[in-house]
Amino acid sequence: MRIILFGSPGVGKGTQAKILSAKFNIPHISTGDILRQSVKDQTPLGIQAQNILNKGELVSDNIMIELIKDTFQNAKCKNGFILDGFPRSLAQAFALDKILLELNINDVILLTITADEEELVKRLTNRRACRNCGNIFNYNEIKDNNECPVCKAKNSFYLRDDDSEKVIRHRMDVFKTTTRPVLDHYEEKNMVIYINGSSSVEEVTKNIISAIEARTGKKDSISV
Ligand code: AMP
Repeated sequence: MRIILFGSPGVGKGTQAKILSAKFNIPHISTGDILRQSVKDQTPLGIQAQNILNKGELVSDNIMIELIKDTFQNAKCKNGFILDGFPRSLAQAFALDKILLELNINDVILLTITADEEELVKRLTNRRACRNCGNIFNYNEIKDNNECPVCKAKNSFYLRDDDSEKVIRHRMDVFKTTTRPVLDHYEEKNMVIYINGSSSVEEVTKNIISAIEARTGKKDSISV
């Protein structure tokens, strides 16, 4: 199974990718997570990317394309992947098409999760990440608890620097101007499946599974 999860910041790509990754036993490749880890580890990439992430800008296409090429070399990606956060520009989409062609991969499913912009701004300002395991929670779920429900780390919740309202609005603008055209590119190839991201996490997962079943015709192996 090879999936690209596409959609505006905050629409739930990361949450759904983690669920699907566990379900299908395929790696979740989040370019945002890779970059944040590099910043945390202060690698040369992290040092270069830090300010860009904090401002809600995009890291350069060349850097991101090389990063994805390297990731695809990894044996873990051989039997499938869920790509979350890439491609984010037309140049990245063209590069990805070329990489997939070279690897003779032609069964990618592109799922676009959609939701109302104001709802997303509210969601993002209300979300907290766990510094230890990277899972994301709604502030209301964890406000009375200082322990991460997933990894049990204590006092590990934080608001991502790029989840302040000003930066969120900028990330939305970057999505509309630079990332949205990627969708038109894949629309032309008839590859896009739309998923309504406004309902509960469980409902969105169900709809994704149904959409995958409808596209692949394989029902029994992937029931929820
Ligand atoms: P995300 O966690 O996917 O929202 O990504 C967080 C930040 O990482 C973005 O706002 C960008 O600064 C950077 N980033 C992640 N993926 C890409 C990409 N494909 N191209 C450029 N920048 C990216």
